[in-house]
Amino acid sequence: MSSPVPHSSSSTAASLGPVVDEHLRWLTRWHRAVFFHAESGLPGVEAVTPPTAFLDWVRRIRDTELTEQPAVDRLVHLHEQLHRMARLMLARTIEGDRLTLPAYESVVEKFEDFIAQCRRFEKAFSIAGSGIDPLTGLRNRTGMHEELERELNRFRRMGRPFCVALCDLDKFKSVNDTYGHEAGDRVLMAAAGAINRGIRSFDEAFRMGGEEILILLKDTTAPEALFVLERLRADLEALPVQLADGGTLHVTASFGLAEATLHTPLEELVDQADQALYRAKRTGRNRVVCHGEADLVAADAG
Ligand code: GH3
Ligand code: MG
Ligand code: MG
Repeated sequence: MSSPVPHSSSSTAASLGPVVDEHLRWLTRWHRAVFFHAESGLPGVEAVTPPTAFLDWVRRIRDTELTEQPAVDRLVHLHEQLHRMARLMLARTIEGDRLTLPAYESVVEKFEDFIAQCRRFEKAFSIAGSGIDPLTGLRNRTGMHEELERELNRFRRMGRPFCVALCDLDKFKSVNDTYGHEAGDRVLMAAAGAINRGIRSFDEAFRMGGEEILILLKDTTAPEALFVLERLRADLEALPVQLADGGTLHVTASFGLAEATLHTPLEELVDQADQALYRAKRTGRNRVVCHGEADLVAADAG
């Protein structure tokens, strides 16, 4: 259910600020060339050479997960279109064609689109880089691996284990389908709030993605964690989620738990919690299942 623990975020290296700056300077050169190309000493065809900053950016993100994003494809396409149109228009005006307003505006519109997209990206990067998920206020996956690693090191030094739990809302797709995505978002916010309130201040909850939350229970053994998670499960079940139309909604969640050992790599620990979560789903949902034991099932709300 969960994807691998990320080791680093690519968002910090991906700033598009220099791309925007360079394109603003490029537009000025392009304008001069289009309107005053006949005057000596002014930029001519060389003004249409696309700025290199964007191509550098594409090269820089080549080995990151960003390249898989459709929005990056759209940005690359927009960049190509912008410079193709700008080059064509400049070539025509240099050859003596009259510049028409619609043709000019089509280039300016592409330019504005491109800059707006770059700025949207910048905003998304700064939110992602902050380490906080904007919907739930929980920490996102940025920094999660480091946090787990710190706890493993503490376990090695002090000899007290910790636990990792994965929480996944039950039948959440049907909440979206029945009540709409906005109601789904409210459920997510409410569930995240309940989890945050239900764990100790030094525990951590991370939104792994979608409606899956990883809970790091520090300095905690599996029996202790089962107690905490069972209380969280019951809190969630009892939680009335307020909808925009004044109505309320109830949801449940399933939990998979795994206790760290000195020899379990972190990837495997998260995977064990994931397997336990899968078992919780398969055996009826709205329950807590611990990895390993056959079965340390703490809660069976069925
Ligand atoms: P299960 O009990 O097996 O977990 O069923 P499920 O329907 O919860 O599981 P599934 O993984 O099929 O669906 C998860 C849904 O979560 C699908 C997706 O639309 C929804 N989702 C993911 N992120 C968000 C979000 O940020 N907001 C909203 N409203 N829905 C989201
Ligand atoms: Mg679910
Ligand atoms: Mg899920």
